[in-house]
Amino acid sequence: MSAHSAVQSDRSKTPSGRVESRRGQLKITEIFCSLQGESTLAGLPTTFVRLTGCPLRCTYCDSEYAFFGGDWWSQEALLDRVDTLGAPNVCVTGGEPLAQRSCHELMSALCDRGYRVSLETSGALDISTVDQRVMVVMDIKTPDSREDHRNKFDNLSQLKAGDQVKFVIGSRADYDWAKQRVAEREIDQRCEVLFSPNYEKLSARSLADWIVEDRLPVRFQMQTHKLLWGDVPGV
Ligand code: SF4
Repeated sequence: MSAHSAVQSDRSKTPSGRVESRRGQLKITEIFCSLQGESTLAGLPTTFVRLTGCPLRCTYCDSEYAFFGGDWWSQEALLDRVDTLGAPNVCVTGGEPLAQRSCHELMSALCDRGYRVSLETSGALDISTVDQRVMVVMDIKTPDSREDHRNKFDNLSQLKAGDQVKFVIGSRADYDWAKQRVAEREIDQRCEVLFSPNYEKLSARSLADWIVEDRLPVRFQMQTHKLLWGDVPGV
């Protein structure tokens, strides 16, 4: 049992891609306060609630430590912890947070308490029942992720002003693919579009140059928290 109000601890590994879910409880990998490194909220002090588990396996995933393990928390304990950490912004992330059914109740409860809540989601699960007060930051998986077949494009019709769509770009082919999706589905007319480099595969400078050359209606994004503190959990 951990010291942070966990209801039950389970470090055993689940089969690949299967996410455990319980009504009224959430399996959490970590909860901490840092600067938001991505989205239009970048730079703001934010409490991150990282839910355990993801049904996807993107090639570039930097959150693999969130696939397994974690601790079961009651919603009350989570809300208390968020209150204690004290940041006005809360980012619900993962893994894939929507893979746990109680995620929706948590987000609504956080909104009720007056927090500005954002959700980071893979784009592979339905977002139609996400509380309208939550800012959705939804991935569209590119071919280099090898999970592009999981994209649920129906979700685009659910996005509202203030939501964001994020592409992680790993190559010129990925860039051209993403550019085409933005144009043909007019995603930039719906909401903000973010292009981020896959740092291991593509230089940030190349991506920035391509966006400028094409005058693309997207926002270039670097992960501020990694520039500041490196690629380590909990920052
Ligand atoms: S959806 Fe996110 S957490 Fe899941 S494998 Fe892909 S990058 Fe990792």
